[in-house]
Amino acid sequence: MEETRLVLLGPPACGKGTQGRRLAKEYGLGYFSTGKQLRREVEAGTALGQEADKYLSRTEYVPDQLVLAIVSDWVSKQGGGWILDGFPRTVMQAEELDRFPSESIRSLRALLIDVDREVLAQRVSQRCECGYCSWTGTSDDVKETASCPSCGGALIRRRDDEPEAFRKRMDIYEELTLPVIEHYSSSGGLLRISGIGTQGEVSKRVKDALQSHG
Ligand code: ADP
Repeated sequence: MEETRLVLLGPPACGKGTQGRRLAKEYGLGYFSTGKQLRREVEAGTALGQEADKYLSRTEYVPDQLVLAIVSDWVSKQGGGWILDGFPRTVMQAEELDRFPSESIRSLRALLIDVDREVLAQRVSQRCECGYCSWTGTSDDVKETASCPSCGGALIRRRDDEPEAFRKRMDIYEELTLPVIEHYSSSGGLLRISGIGTQGEVSKRVKDALQSHG
């Protein structure tokens, strides 16, 4: 598992972040979310963040080259295995990842977390995340406290979780990211699990899928 190199695929709010972080912690892997990193860059007001915000504020994918720059930089600094959450999101990004130095993408696999569109819309309507640490969850998880259960920080709602923005993200996902699934399935590197159920149930499916496919 220490050498696992995994890209997580699936629609918005399918659980990539939750599962990715759990898996990374359990197996001591590096974890990188392009969406989270882009939002950090926007908040920090970096040049990259300002450029990215032009697209994020319209609920569009940011240009491939911009995302590729942050991902290749991060991957090049990893000593062991890693998990990428939210990349690749277009066929061009997947093809560019295939061109990374062979050493850095050895035994690369893709894991698709499948969830129906109606279930996702329901999840997103309740989703909140911590403005400080990487915690994400639903309003059910924080009923008692109204603050982050992990660090006590203030919770925020992502602007792209509003219903209209969510519909747009789903449409873009279907247009640009479904072909990425085909990219990995035709090369035989795709694992697929259902993302319906509790975090623990999905987590078990993730580990079973990785273990049974060496
Ligand atoms: P989710 O998976 O819930 O849609 P993310 O936090 O992964 O959300 O990403 C938020 C937004 O960041 C995306 O909707 C997109 O605009 C942008 N983004 C993230 N990763 C990429 C990528 N690989 N290519 C282009 N845009 C990206």
